Amino acid sequence: MFDDLRELYQEVILDHSKRPRNFRHPEDANHEAHGYNPLCGDTVNVYLKMGHNGLIEDAAFEGKGCAISLASASMMTEIIKGKTEAQAKTIFDGFQKLVKGEDDNFDAGDDTERLMVLAGVKEFPMRVKCATLAWHAMSSAMDGAEEISTE
Ligand code: ZN
Repeated sequence: MFDDLRELYQEVILDHSKRPRNFRHPEDANHEAHGYNPLCGDTVNVYLKMGHNGLIEDAAFEGKGCAISLASASMMTEIIKGKTEAQAKTIFDGFQKLVKGEDDNFDAGDDTERLMVLAGVKEFPMRVKCATLAWHAMSSAMDGAEEISTE
């Protein structure tokens, strides 16, 4: 990766971790899950408002943890809002492969570039769980499970 690109990505991650988007608990959320990553100590609560036909009408989170976990949760809420459950899970699958270094041709449509910001964690296996924590919680929330741990 080029140094200037890496710097830009770090700036995006820092910005999202310092000023997380959708950092709130919506009162009308009808699905939620708590996620915990014991390796790093990250915790996250993901709140979803699922509408008719599996549409994610609102997505938000609260939690504390490292910059990667917060930035990933923040970006996730922005990306999945307005998508269907199936679309969100497809993006999650691709994103998991991306951060594990298993997919060199990652394509999530309009969201590809934004998620590439987190692709650098594939060089740091410990960080993969930080980056995917909120996504696991989102997936569990949609499935009706309320607790997930990365262990
Ligand atoms: Zn972490």
